Amino acid sequence: MSRTLIKNGKVVSTTGVVEHDVLLDGETISALGAPGYFTEEGIDRVIDAAGKYVIPGGIDVHTHMELPFGGTFASDTFETGTRAAAWGGTTTIIDFAVQKAGEDVHAGLADWHRKAEGECAIDYGFHQIIGGVDDESLKAMKYLVDHEGISSFKLFMAYPGVFYSDDGQVLRAMQTAAECGAMIMMHAENGIAIDVLVQQALARGETDPKYHSLTRPSPLEAEATHRAIVLSHVAGNVPLYVVHMSAGDALNEIAAARHLGRNVFAETCPQYLYLTLEETLGKPGFEGAKWVCSTPVRSKTNDPHYIGQMGHGHQSDLWKGLRMNELAIVSTDHCPFCFKDQKEMGLGNFSAIPNGIGGVEHRMELLYQGVASGELSLERWVETCCTTPARMFGLYPRKGVITPGADADVVVWDPTKKTKIGINDKHHMNMDHSAYEGYVIDGKVDTVISRGTVVVEGDQYVGRKGHGQYLKRGLSQYLV
Ligand SMILES: [Zn+2]
Repeated sequence: MSRTLIKNGKVVSTTGVVEHDVLLDGETISALGAPGYFTEEGIDRVIDAAGKYVIPGGIDVHTHMELPFGGTFASDTFETGTRAAAWGGTTTIIDFAVQKAGEDVHAGLADWHRKAEGECAIDYGFHQIIGGVDDESLKAMKYLVDHEGISSFKLFMAYPGVFYSDDGQVLRAMQTAAECGAMIMMHAENGIAIDVLVQQALARGETDPKYHSLTRPSPLEAEATHRAIVLSHVAGNVPLYVVHMSAGDALNEIAAARHLGRNVFAETCPQYLYLTLEETLGKPGFEGAKWVCSTPVRSKTNDPHYIGQMGHGHQSDLWKGLRMNELAIVSTDHCPFCFKDQKEMGLGNFSAIPNGIGGVEHRMELLYQGVASGELSLERWVETCCTTPARMFGLYPRKGVITPGADADVVVWDPTKKTKIGINDKHHMNMDHSAYEGYVIDGKVDTVISRGTVVVEGDQYVGRKGHGQYLKRGLSQYLV
């Protein structure tokens, strides 16, 4: 069994930063000790982490490899997407298997296993999208919790005719989840109202990418978030996790529910913490299509439709929410599409632009920039990107923590170097542009270890496809 010693580093956990040497035995972490405690005798590999941080491998709980959407497929396969994730210090992803109305849940899940098996550079698990709530799919939910290691189910209040569930369907799925202890993940936007606004905008000749955001105003995210919270309460206080939160008014709904002691959680994504309507979707011509995703990137002040919180942007609200644990997790909603031929499907009609931004590679980097800028503590960076994701989705303490017995998923992070993101700089996702082109980030991934195997070292990828294993997950460990 191969033994690795990471010495002289500063180990970051949710509770602090401690100088510890870390001993890895095969695929697991076997011990932590004071600096110099372990001899190098019998050690196969020594990694000197002097001046560097040693953190648990990142966990991205929201990715969409090869997702069929709008007549095309997300451009990263499990092979290219998990390799890019590893490049960015992420050692586990949880992707979404898909069931649409009229389709069989088990067939959808089998399809996802087929796409991922033998392809992944890092470990992976699945959530299940339930796009058609009926007797069969509700029965399947129970089976997946008991037998397949899938304990979270995603519903959509948006995308009528594709993934949409009406309130009655949402309630039924929530009741089923409550019975089996599972988590409901919610895409919370009022898709019925949004579709009306989209049709009205197109009829007025408003076809540019920026109208994607302007037809999805933040009150419709806040309203759906509120409705999901009410339904989850009626359904027996089923744990509810609102995905890709983009707006301060939606966040207020989460904060209010948490204040009442409800099992309500939310995530945000780097695009909402960094990108603005004015600087991305609002670029002249069609270039803004690169940043079409749902929920949308929002105005730097607030939505023109929104009344209240004037002069006080969504981004500062979201950073505050991360500090206050109103937002528990940062994921990416990684759903890349190339500009050429894919985003271009929406030339002359913003509603035909495939929805998604590629970001799986850059989450740890962009959130570390929040540490460097004073928005987050080091401990909170690790908590929102590594530890809480593991606890929220039933992977703790195997993942998300540096402790004896945990999987040896470890990242050595160099805070003295910088990372330049861009298509000709650091960019390993399978797409022809970067949503973060030109960003220069403080800090740099130094070494990435997945289950005891070094997969990224310096500026080299040394992993292999097929190393990553499917993770059967337990129930959420993060309930109030
Ligand atoms: Zn998504």
